[in-house]
Amino acid sequence: MLDLTRFRRDLHAHPETGFDLERTPHLIAERLEHAGLEVTRGVGQSGLVATLRRGPDETAIGFRADMDALPIEEANSFAHRSTVAGKFHGCGHDGHSTMLMGAALRLSADPALKRTVHFVFQPDEENGNGAAAMISDGLFDRFPMSAIYGLHNLPGMKLGHFATQPGPFCAFEDNFEIRIKGKGGHASEPDKGIDPIVVGSAIVTQLQSIVSRTMPASEHAVVSVTEFVTDGARNVLPSNVTLRGDCRGFSAAVSNMIERRMRAIVDGTCVAYGARAQVDYSTSFQPLMNDEWATGVVANAAREVGSVNDGFGRVGFSEDFAEFLSHRPGAFVLMGNGTDGSASMPLHNPEYDFNDKAIEHGVSFWVNLAHQPGP
Ligand SMILES: [Zn+2]
Ligand SMILES: [Zn+2]
Repeated sequence: MLDLTRFRRDLHAHPETGFDLERTPHLIAERLEHAGLEVTRGVGQSGLVATLRRGPDETAIGFRADMDALPIEEANSFAHRSTVAGKFHGCGHDGHSTMLMGAALRLSADPALKRTVHFVFQPDEENGNGAAAMISDGLFDRFPMSAIYGLHNLPGMKLGHFATQPGPFCAFEDNFEIRIKGKGGHASEPDKGIDPIVVGSAIVTQLQSIVSRTMPASEHAVVSVTEFVTDGARNVLPSNVTLRGDCRGFSAAVSNMIERRMRAIVDGTCVAYGARAQVDYSTSFQPLMNDEWATGVVANAAREVGSVNDGFGRVGFSEDFAEFLSHRPGAFVLMGNGTDGSASMPLHNPEYDFNDKAIEHGVSFWVNLAHQPGP
């Protein structure tokens, strides 16, 4: 049996980002092909699907892992630290890929498996484009599946513990850019211009009312302005201000409401000050909706490995796996990465590392999931 810890550390030492994955899918494909799986490369550019065919299409299911790293410089100094400047597996996708590959290898030698499983290895999870790329490349037509499942590690949660919940689980992420055009000039003569800083400040203040004054108390949402950029200087009033930011929530209705209110606030404020503005608003990640039945299946598979909280509550981060769940039912589960050292550092922190002690939990979870009864 392949040493999965060594494999995981090798991926960690050689991170690849976005769609620019070559070595990672190659190593996975090579091993799964060797074990007799049908391997399809280049699904959604650098994605990979490995199929273990053991039953009719109607009962086939999909398991997803993400392969991409982050554009961050690693701060760890252990032997398997990143060998690529400015790239780092800071979200544990090295562990996710390793565990799913390990499960595929184990299931390929399991005569008791009675259903077809598609192992989906996606690129570009971090930017939220990989799932859509695989789907538009025919993922669900070429590899029919009745349900799809995903897993992510969670630092600070104890090893062997799993968490999920039916319904809305992970937030959507929307991004916006508001470009305000005023009329710049001499700092001593504001009366001769239209100061976009004053306009932008009014907009930032008004945006705070979206959540506090238009959102029902039963909803959760966040509207954050994260950048306020001007082309002014010490004694120059700027002509342009660009505001950028990030919104979170758990339903398409909330996303639409935020966008509608934002456009109204920007339009109204600009009229009041005589400025002009353009708003670009886009959804980077959909809200993640766990199917109720599939959540129960996931909880059962996890319970055979350790403990499960199947009413964990909503989490504020976003996941590209939501895109798959908008096409097929399924569920997403979080798995404890441990409470010590680099395994307990937050995801995307330069000192984070996936915990190799969790590999066996993840592999067993996937194997158990493949054996769960179901349609
Ligand atoms: Zn991640
Ligand atoms: Zn991440």
